[in-house]
Amino acid sequence: MRISFCAQTDPAPWLAALQQHLPQAQVDVWHSGAARADFAIVWAAPQQFFDEQTALQAVFNMGAGVDALLQRQMRADLPIVRLNDAGMGVQMAEYVCHALIRHTRDFALFEAQAQHGLWQEPPVLDRADFPVGILGLGVLGEQVARAVQHFGFPILGWSRTARQLDGVRCFHSQAQLEAFLAGTRVLVNLLPLTPQTENLLNRDTLSQLEPGAYLINIARGRHVVDEDLLSLLDSGQMAGATLDVFRTEPLPAEHPFWRHPRVTVTPHIAGRTVLQDTVQQIVAKIQALQKGQPIEGVVDRARGY
Ligand code: NAP
Repeated sequence: MRISFCAQTDPAPWLAALQQHLPQAQVDVWHSGAARADFAIVWAAPQQFFDEQTALQAVFNMGAGVDALLQRQMRADLPIVRLNDAGMGVQMAEYVCHALIRHTRDFALFEAQAQHGLWQEPPVLDRADFPVGILGLGVLGEQVARAVQHFGFPILGWSRTARQLDGVRCFHSQAQLEAFLAGTRVLVNLLPLTPQTENLLNRDTLSQLEPGAYLINIARGRHVVDEDLLSLLDSGQMAGATLDVFRTEPLPAEHPFWRHPRVTVTPHIAGRTVLQDTVQQIVAKIQALQKGQPIEGVVDRARGY
């Protein structure tokens, strides 16, 4: 079995880990003209990779989101497999809980007060005032919901098809988006980027949130219409935003998000790819495919995720 690795990262530890789990396999870093492989492990692979690698039985994406990969032309019957959690879920949960609690417990305010030696206590928090709405109740959204639940916030969730999660008021489809937004004060975005979800967070939808709303975007930058978010923050209708993902990454130096007093920027680190978890998951899936067994995480190309 031959595995081709094509990602913009140091390949050495990946090759070593793959080789350790699959000693019989030939694992190579892809280069133009490389031998045709049976399986590919990719992140931001160029079109040339798919033009040349015509014998693949499956391509494994080194992330959960496949929006960039789906821009590539490839055989219609080639299975695209995305990561299912693989160590990202706990990180996403940490990130959201941190941003949520930093906002609701006024930690930014205390940091500012400390600069001036100011000792001032805010009123006691009522969690019922901060219903958390999670867009996307998939592998990562569900884990975020569980983690947030631990702190006693009311939780709402929105998905494409109907879902049932204990302790979560579940909404689904475009028809129920309005009701979901109207009951949400802290909006957490965990949707995949598809033609249906691109620009979903715009003036119209963000205005439907409870007054003083807060946005935590850890999905994709193209879900958000930047100008609309900025104008709602400037007018005070929205209280703030913690943003991990952007339309252009790295976020350009001149982008207003960098300096906006109500925006916290992080450099797309909410859920990092964890080498050991990722390799173990991909290896298990390759072994299952070789035995003709079904695997989780095969992307539905028509659906876009
Ligand atoms: P997933 O398991 O595929 O879940 C996607 C969820 O979104 C599902 O609940 C799905 O509904 C819902 N959804 C999709 N299209 C929708 C639509 N048009 N309307 C309403 N709901 C819709 O994905 P995941 O593994 O949780 O990952 C989510 C996203 O997180 C990824 O696509 C990626 O963009 C992002 N991500 C970001 C980072 C980071 O570091 N910032 C790291 C990892 C992932 P159904 O349940 O009905 O299918």
